[in-house]
Amino acid sequence: KIFSGGFSKTRDNLAVIDELLLYWNLSDTDRVLDELEEALLVSDFGPKITVKIVESLRDDIFAGKLKSGTEIKASVMNMKDALKNSVLDILTKKGAKTELKLGFRKPAVIMIVGVNGGGKTTSLGKLAYRLKSGGAKILMAAGDTFRAAASDQLEIWAERTGCEIVSAEKVKAKASSVLSQAVKKGKEEGYDIVLCDTSGRLHTNYSLMEELIACKKAVAKVVQGAPNEILLVLDGTTGLNMLPQAREFNEVVGITGFILTKLDGSARGGCVVSVVDELGIPVKFVGVGEGVEDLQPFDAQAFVYHSIM
Ligand code: GDP
Repeated sequence: KIFSGGFSKTRDNLAVIDELLLYWNLSDTDRVLDELEEALLVSDFGPKITVKIVESLRDDIFAGKLKSGTEIKASVMNMKDALKNSVLDILTKKGAKTELKLGFRKPAVIMIVGVNGGGKTTSLGKLAYRLKSGGAKILMAAGDTFRAAASDQLEIWAERTGCEIVSAEKVKAKASSVLSQAVKKGKEEGYDIVLCDTSGRLHTNYSLMEELIACKKAVAKVVQGAPNEILLVLDGTTGLNMLPQAREFNEVVGITGFILTKLDGSARGGCVVSVVDELGIPVKFVGVGEGVEDLQPFDAQAFVYHSIM
């Protein structure tokens, strides 16, 4: 299942380019490039990448490399490939390290962070299933102590995937102590990986960022080098909001990878390319549904060739 319904919005907008091919002539260059720019922006490619792509096309055309109608047309036909290639280039160079880095000390600690509703808990559950299927002994930590229902929701995932879970013993417990307790248990009882859920109230909430820093410190005290991964969940349906979110989380806690969720719907995931381009952080997984098996390792080729256009 490769993003079955996903990116349809992106695809639709880029179909505009096909139409532009029909009416292309040299005097139309500016108008057509403007329309291309519009199509890319609406597709959530982000202003930076859009400008990069459009300007490089403009340069080629006005450098006089294209002298006849046939050449121009052929060049326009190459637009799609050029776009695919430049996106692929960004994803494979700046976002190359898609493998989880778990180190050699046990347990490895993975923190999942992100704003509420993006798919943190669900992604944690799916990741647990995936890693457990690979033979790892997994412990879950219910670090979202802020939202009452969050640990119940994680308990359901623990049951579904057959994993142990550490939850707060009392209401409004400190997230950092729950995670610390979980990682201690993980160390004492020979777990391979501790997957830590965290709170996700508004990312602009300073106390959340303080809490995440405290969580990071707390697990580092128990296992040297932990957390091995801090994965930021990006909701594929949020478009351009991804970029400020990613910037802020990265500035505060240092993100090692992204999980891009909800690509099975009508998600506009194109914006993640801007995020990878700016921050140089890879997408490690994509969410393509709500079931245990609906988390896939990120595959740049599949993303570009099957989804974007
Ligand atoms: P959290 O608040 O960040 O922990 O978000 P949740 O894990 O509770 O997810 C919020 C909603 O999004 C839930 O209804 C999930 O089932 C749904 N969800 C999460 N990931 C995906 C996905 O990849 N595809 C779809 N279709 N729904 C998802």
